[in-house]
Amino acid sequence: MKASIQIAHTPPADSDSGKSTPKTLDALTIPFHLPQLGDEEKAAVQKVMDSGWLTTGPVSMGFEQDFARFTGAPHAIAVNSCTAALHLALEAIGLQPGDEVLTTPYTFAATAEVVRYFDAKPCLIDIDPHTFNLSPEQLEKTKGITWNPAKAKAIIPVHFAGLPCDMDAIMDFAQRNKLYVIEDAAHALPTCYKGRMVGTLGDITAFSFYVTKTITTGEGGMITTAHGELADRMRMMRLHGISRDAWKRYSAEGSWFYEIHQPGFKYNLTDLAAAIGVEQLKKAWDMTKQRVDIAAQYDQAFGQHPALIIPPAPQEDDTTHSRHLYPLRFNPKRLRISRDAFIEEMKAAGIGTSVHFIPLHIHPYYRDTYGYQPEDLPHALNAYQQVMSLPIYSGMTEAGVEQVMDTVLRIANAHLKPELL
Ligand SMILES: *Cc1c(COP(=O)(O)O)cnc(C)c1O
Repeated sequence: MKASIQIAHTPPADSDSGKSTPKTLDALTIPFHLPQLGDEEKAAVQKVMDSGWLTTGPVSMGFEQDFARFTGAPHAIAVNSCTAALHLALEAIGLQPGDEVLTTPYTFAATAEVVRYFDAKPCLIDIDPHTFNLSPEQLEKTKGITWNPAKAKAIIPVHFAGLPCDMDAIMDFAQRNKLYVIEDAAHALPTCYKGRMVGTLGDITAFSFYVTKTITTGEGGMITTAHGELADRMRMMRLHGISRDAWKRYSAEGSWFYEIHQPGFKYNLTDLAAAIGVEQLKKAWDMTKQRVDIAAQYDQAFGQHPALIIPPAPQEDDTTHSRHLYPLRFNPKRLRISRDAFIEEMKAAGIGTSVHFIPLHIHPYYRDTYGYQPEDLPHALNAYQQVMSLPIYSGMTEAGVEQVMDTVLRIANAHLKPELL
């Protein structure tokens, strides 16, 4: 059966769904993202190079300790991506073929593909139309319909754009249904939920240090958990399933002896990357403050505009938004221009934007494997068709922020439709 809504899947040549494309950097006056790396990072990398120990070692271990202290999590395990973190998490909880994992369609490829690594099924649950986060209400409603309570083993919420999910409701739901909670916190560093750091809420949390994320090591990731046994398992599996201090075997304190306990993976973070991470982590709150400032300016500029809908702020006390993304939403009833054409006009004005996300269920793999129709998850479809992510990063100049605001308003005003009476 063909979908009744045709979703064009011939994106512009440089469309990247959030992944950066260096070739556009020269052409745009304001790229969608630039990492913030300073002399501290350069000196730290130089020091690692001079030490002669480039791969996993003392600097990675130090980064883990810093990260555990930063989030308040008892265990932090450095890995080479958030994808690896999610994979190790599912392996540690013992996910089996045929099991089900509940997650959101409104995310990047990694969140669901790791479930497929086990020949298990990612059950996509529609989002809250306002926050774009996994909807606890939909989790209940779809129970026994689009997912099987006897097969479900875990739930992977994604804190979209850096706004924490309704974790009290999700944890309660998980407890009642005996599900592990593995948070995809690729957008949520640093983020507080009701006074507690993301990284200390669910059973396992996965962070990303990909180049576009809130802190970066080029490529990298971190796992946090309070469960000692799961932590031990993930530590072992991240490096070939060999005894935990295997990396020491080329150092003075190590020995040549090691034992393989499981067929593990090659997911360790290098000290070169960790050195960048240590310095980035020190700046994480400061960089967040700058993004929060930019978001406040955008909110101010767009909040009253009839065709523009600003992303939601946290509703709970002591809850923060890391503002990894600024997904501005269009009211299609008040615009004569399509979202895609709006993006083209932004590009012509020298401003890089992106779309977060093309929901998983309309991608060919998930559509064809599970027979999804676009309108099966209407809130995710709707969100996708209406959003455009604006540049938001700490290195943006005041003039750059102004230029983004002026350009958005100029295009929106030029194509504003009168209100129908
Ligand atoms: C970037 C991202 C990931 C993947 O992170 P990597 O470190 O590149 O593996 C996973 N989930 C979400 C929501 C992301 O945005």
